Amino acid sequence: MSQIYHDDDADLGALEDQVVALVGYGNQGRSQALNLRDSGLNVTIGNIRDHGATTATKDGFSVLSIAEACEQADVVMLLVPDEVMPEVFKTHVAPNLAPGNLIVFASGYNIAFNLITPPDFLDVALIAPRMIGIGVRETFIAGTGFPSFVGVHHEATGSAKARMLAIAKGIGSTRAGCIEMSMHDEATLDLFTEQAFGPAFGRVLMTAIELLVEAGYPPEAVLLELYLSGEFAYSFEKMREVGIMKQMDFHSRTSQYGTVTRGARFMALAEPIKERMSEVLEEIRSGSFADEWSNQQPTAMALFEKIREARDKMPVARWDEIARSAFRIGNAR
Ligand code: NDP
Repeated sequence: MSQIYHDDDADLGALEDQVVALVGYGNQGRSQALNLRDSGLNVTIGNIRDHGATTATKDGFSVLSIAEACEQADVVMLLVPDEVMPEVFKTHVAPNLAPGNLIVFASGYNIAFNLITPPDFLDVALIAPRMIGIGVRETFIAGTGFPSFVGVHHEATGSAKARMLAIAKGIGSTRAGCIEMSMHDEATLDLFTEQAFGPAFGRVLMTAIELLVEAGYPPEAVLLELYLSGEFAYSFEKMREVGIMKQMDFHSRTSQYGTVTRGARFMALAEPIKERMSEVLEEIRSGSFADEWSNQQPTAMALFEKIREARDKMPVARWDEIARSAFRIGNAR
């Protein structure tokens, strides 16, 4: 049985008189900093001189260089993008840490794939929110919080776990629950969702769009039916709220009968999908994906430019824009 921590397992007192520095004031950094301050912790921000630093100052934080913030801190939370973190850690963070400091990662990626190896005199922990940055703040304010994957990767002081749980409580995550997990398992699950579940799901969606448009249905109506109306997303939300099976009760009898009887026809697809998913999983676990991505860094921006161009030229991008405008959805509102 997995170990799951809630508010009662965590004590903010473990961080009494300690300074918590957040390195990076972006999606996660801003929300986590505001939540920690509202929880009564002593928070500073270490950031490069960019718009993040300006926002942090406007939010009332004292903003230092990354090096200065780390030097003054007892706990350092690394909240810069994973691909720049090894360089930021080597150059600005590591030289300014002292024995007994706790460093907290919001993703296991760099530790799991040996891109960062912290010195043994540090406590090292994982607090990986299962929530986008804006949601970290909104669920904190709403009082519900959000779940996280947490774990002590290295214990140097004997207080790593207590301090990790105090941070998890401070950002609002033990309200929902934090499940214990290694850096490698967290990174693997995260990458698997991005590289296997997401693309497989996306392929099914694109296949349905192609089929229905070829069958003569108006593209805008097809998109509306499949995802733009929000009905499907709503069912996903109900799946979360009441359970994957019980949510079926919210659908009509015709829908339930059709889903169950026709659903069986797609069972044969499960094996080939599983095979592709296993390949992806193995590439992630062995570290070969991480090696490939590290090697791609010098040309990554050019690659993304090409992907964006190709993506924007796809007919579905135009249909999507027309339909969102017609139905006043999202930023077309
Ligand atoms: P962001 O992309 O929002 O960037 C965070 C901050 O890092 C920004 O202030 C950014 O500045 C700064 N930054 C970018 N490049 C550098 C650099 N070279 N040197 C110093 N600072 C830099 O990151 P996220 O908040 O999305 O991610 C932070 C961590 O949280 C990652 O480990 C990620 O895996 C994890 N995480 C993210 C989630 C999410 O939903 N976003 C969910 C769960 C975990 P600027 O704005 O100028 O680029």
